[in-house]
Amino acid sequence: VAAPPRPRPETPIDALRSVWGYDAFRDQQAEIIDTLVRGDDAIVLMPTGGGKSLCYQVPSLVREGTGVVVSPLIALMHDQVDALLQLGVRAAYLNSTQSIDERRAVERDLLAGELDLLYLAPERLPVVGDLLDRAPIALFAIDEAHCVSQWGHDFRPDYLQLSILHERWPSIPRIALTATATVETRAEIAERLDLQGARLFVSSFDRPNIQYRIAPKQDARGQLLRIIREEHPGEAGIVYCLSRKSVEQTATWLSQNGVEALPYHAGLDAGTRARNQSRFLREEGVVMCATVAFGMGIDKPDVRFVAHLDLPKSVEGYYQETGRAGRDGEPSTAWLAYGLQDVVQQRRMIDEGDGDRQRKRAQTLHLDAMLALCETVECRRVQLLGYFGQPSERCGNCDTCLAPPETLDGTVPAQKLLSTIVRLQREHRQQYGAGHLVDILLGKDTERIRRLGHDRLSTYGIGGELSDQEWRGVVRQLLAQGLLEVQGEYGVLAITEAAGDVLGGRREVRLRREQERVRRSAKAKA
Ligand code: ADP
Ligand code: ZN
Repeated sequence: VAAPPRPRPETPIDALRSVWGYDAFRDQQAEIIDTLVRGDDAIVLMPTGGGKSLCYQVPSLVREGTGVVVSPLIALMHDQVDALLQLGVRAAYLNSTQSIDERRAVERDLLAGELDLLYLAPERLPVVGDLLDRAPIALFAIDEAHCVSQWGHDFRPDYLQLSILHERWPSIPRIALTATATVETRAEIAERLDLQGARLFVSSFDRPNIQYRIAPKQDARGQLLRIIREEHPGEAGIVYCLSRKSVEQTATWLSQNGVEALPYHAGLDAGTRARNQSRFLREEGVVMCATVAFGMGIDKPDVRFVAHLDLPKSVEGYYQETGRAGRDGEPSTAWLAYGLQDVVQQRRMIDEGDGDRQRKRAQTLHLDAMLALCETVECRRVQLLGYFGQPSERCGNCDTCLAPPETLDGTVPAQKLLSTIVRLQREHRQQYGAGHLVDILLGKDTERIRRLGHDRLSTYGIGGELSDQEWRGVVRQLLAQGLLEVQGEYGVLAITEAAGDVLGGRREVRLRREQERVRRSAKAKA
């Protein structure tokens, strides 16, 4: 399998030019690589597409021995190794999908010093310890290092044992890499991987060519189709949906409407998945409708838009997924549609999911941060980068910058809604979802309202100043501001402690006015 031996490059820049054929390192790559070549440890936080792989691949070539890369994604190992073999780099992987014979062959090459890079699934580590003792190791790279964070959105228990790398091989330099890096995750990576002494490299997380837009969900597919037709006709894109079923439906629907769209999710057989993925990569203008399972390690530079038809579970996930747009630096769109129903559904999934209280608490915080991003009246990018600990200025290339939302004093509407909830609880000992509450405020004459006697509430019909849509907007914003919360399996609304100040007239509520959001792309603007 291994390519014929090639002389070891003397310097990193030699390796970059002779093996990859690139002219120069990007941003911090050179410094990161020097750190490892010197034998020191590094923690690297770089956005998706920033060029993390070279940070460990190049020093693995320059240093004596094999670079051992721990990576959680078995499906990707194969592709990465293939790509390296194409470049003439001697690479292999060890994971549980291989036969014993295949593994033996890799082990032989490793011991003979004939591997530049070895990719390893984390669960193999305990089994291959003795093997690594006998092989010359250039460095350890821990890819997707945020998987070690129990608070993070992508925790993998196997990652916890990676602290043995330092205990067992203290003199071998290590590099931990991730694209998701809140201040807390950063600290956790350093602590759990025993990397407190490592040099920290934080690249800018900004992707200025991506235009961020978040719109209230009306008919999400129709909204998406308009964007594709008006701004991205014939261009490649990824459409993320929460469920397999909606992936299928969206792909079919787009196809019926003249868009070249394919489905991708874990429920499809391997052949179909591989075929669809390769069409997406090779053909022009294919739109991939997918669950979040799709996209890890996909390196397609000209993805012009990433759309979310459902609310992502966390800002980290959202940022990683939108980061797959515009890797070539050309103008691209990240568009998300979300509605109240998304919040209710996600809350329910957290409540019903397995995971202890601490885990659920973490998931709730992730959801809250995502909601806050959706409902902000400030620049989306400022909010997004701020979340990753990076201060920035208004960007001029997001929906709130391009069409600043009008805000209004929403104290009175908020009080009307909150007091309706309080009254129902007090007088009827009942809690309801947004739909019914809005019906009461609008004074609708429904069978349910009459049966429950809610037409006799003092807040019945006092909300005529806003439309049904606008009231739903109020509910979403009060959720995002922590004045309301969704509870229980039916997604009923309850007021929070903070809401007391609003009801008591001690706190003002600013709301964004619902409006037709911008649908202008960077391209149309130019
Ligand atoms: P990440 O792992 O951070 O998402 P990759 O390592 O996959 O990013 O790199 C993204 C793309 O950028 C790849 O196509 C890679 O070959 C390319 N790239 C990385 N560094 C350089 C460089 N110094 N010059 C040119 N292209 C680069
Ligand atoms: Zn902005």
